[in-house]
Amino acid sequence: MARYVFITGGVVSSLGKGLASAALGSLLQARGFSVRLRKLDPYLNVDPGTMSPFEHGEVFVTDDGAETDLDLGHYERFTGVPARMTDSVSSGRVYSTVLEKERRGDYLGKTIQVVPHVTNEIKEFLHVGEDEVDFMLCEIGGTVGDIEGLPFFEAIRQFSHDKPRGECIFMHLTLLPYLAASGELKTKPTQHSVKELQSIGIAPDILVCRSEHPIPDKEREKIALFCNVRKDAVVAAYDLKSIYEAPLAYHEQGLDQAVLDAFNISPAPKPDLRIWNDVSDRIHHTDGEVNVAIVGKYTQLEDAYKSFKEALTHGGMANRVKVNVSWVDAEVFDSEDAAPHLEGYHAILVPGGFGERGTEGKIKAAEFARTRKIPYFGICLGMQMAVIEAARNVAGISTAGSEEFDHEAGGKRFEPVVYHLKEWVQGNAKVKRKTGDDKGGTMRLGSYDATLTEGSKVAEIYGTTSIEERHRHRYEVDTKYRAQLEEGGMIFSGMSPDGKLPEIVEWTDHPWFIGVQFHPELKSKPFAPHPLFADFVRAAVEASRLV
Ligand code: GLN
Repeated sequence: MARYVFITGGVVSSLGKGLASAALGSLLQARGFSVRLRKLDPYLNVDPGTMSPFEHGEVFVTDDGAETDLDLGHYERFTGVPARMTDSVSSGRVYSTVLEKERRGDYLGKTIQVVPHVTNEIKEFLHVGEDEVDFMLCEIGGTVGDIEGLPFFEAIRQFSHDKPRGECIFMHLTLLPYLAASGELKTKPTQHSVKELQSIGIAPDILVCRSEHPIPDKEREKIALFCNVRKDAVVAAYDLKSIYEAPLAYHEQGLDQAVLDAFNISPAPKPDLRIWNDVSDRIHHTDGEVNVAIVGKYTQLEDAYKSFKEALTHGGMANRVKVNVSWVDAEVFDSEDAAPHLEGYHAILVPGGFGERGTEGKIKAAEFARTRKIPYFGICLGMQMAVIEAARNVAGISTAGSEEFDHEAGGKRFEPVVYHLKEWVQGNAKVKRKTGDDKGGTMRLGSYDATLTEGSKVAEIYGTTSIEERHRHRYEVDTKYRAQLEEGGMIFSGMSPDGKLPEIVEWTDHPWFIGVQFHPELKSKPFAPHPLFADFVRAAVEASRLV
């Protein structure tokens, strides 16, 4: 039966709860335990799938096709444990389940209330898979005191009360602000935040205190005394050069030891930190750097492209180079020459995206990369843009475009080389969609197999001809144009196993030009960089030597 660690936050948001949870997960693994990480989000959206990336950052897709919070990406990148649909829940999901049950009459005429019906539903979610791992780490989104978070806090309080003593602990993240005028770290906000937590019946076992300055012993003692935690359970979290230093930094500060102590696990198994030592070595000892442009639409908010940036960092680690990422807004050169905006980069990545805005600029970026022989990595929408560019400028289909843009604008302006996919095969089942379907959860989502062409560049990079990758899209490249495109030199080197859906395209007479319909960035880890990202960065290094 799993032991539970509940992770909450106070004082301010964005303290790095997700990162602390992920780092703790990796440290428990290093001590030989199995872990699963979970996120409970208080917002009322059923999942983040329909939220704008500006609102919520990237949507992280799991193998089993859930659209989840980007923190699940952190969890996977640090622990390597593939997240599942059941690892992410929002108030919206909980309420919609409760209301469905109410309509079905499952509650036998009772009055439906937040306590116990909503809290029971949350507790049920927490129990899923509890006999599979040693530790379940559950992060509560938001900050203690938020109105919408209350049912979750009540649910975890009850959950720990229901469980035998010693099977659940609470870890709370806070901030110690520094007052430059008096040269002091202030502990009062932490005390208030813990008080708030205690007022709803939760007494933290561990406090993780974010601080820009070293925490003096005296302050640590004060926090321990007034917040009623042991002194060695007051763990400092300092700013880091790279998020991948977090496991080692938290270990040095004693976080994993404090957790094991709180559970009375003694003697504590010794940690094997070789993986993280190697990762740290690769961050600190690089040989050269490359400049990569991410040409997208949501460039003002880095979180919108979180996994792309991380996967590029991993690619850099694989090659021991530093990857400098520049965010280039494609819309800027929608109607002007792209060259001045793209010259000087060693490689170009066009990530996923939705809607027409900025697509002409992305098509120009694909053309620029193709004709200048600059490494190009097109992911999902980025592959579709590369195909449209090839269709227009090489295969002579001058009005080539995507049905997505016609749907959006109404009317028919484009020859649809990228069309709306309405029927496909998932495992042994057929999936069907209509144009007017709901926006939420109706895409081709989750892990699908692909078969690669023997001798192609991608088969060489993967070192195999059968792969599994995660998807999140509605539109698909039409095989109707395959012969024309392949004649021009763009080959379809990866297909769905039934041969119907193009998964990968590549230009044969180019040093590195690959478009993929799936999202390889979601599966990359610092200790296991995704092969496509590792090779893309290698190609960028080569390109940098030619300049
Ligand atoms: N908008 C495109 C589609 O739905 C691409 C989606 C994406 O890049 N994730 O097919």
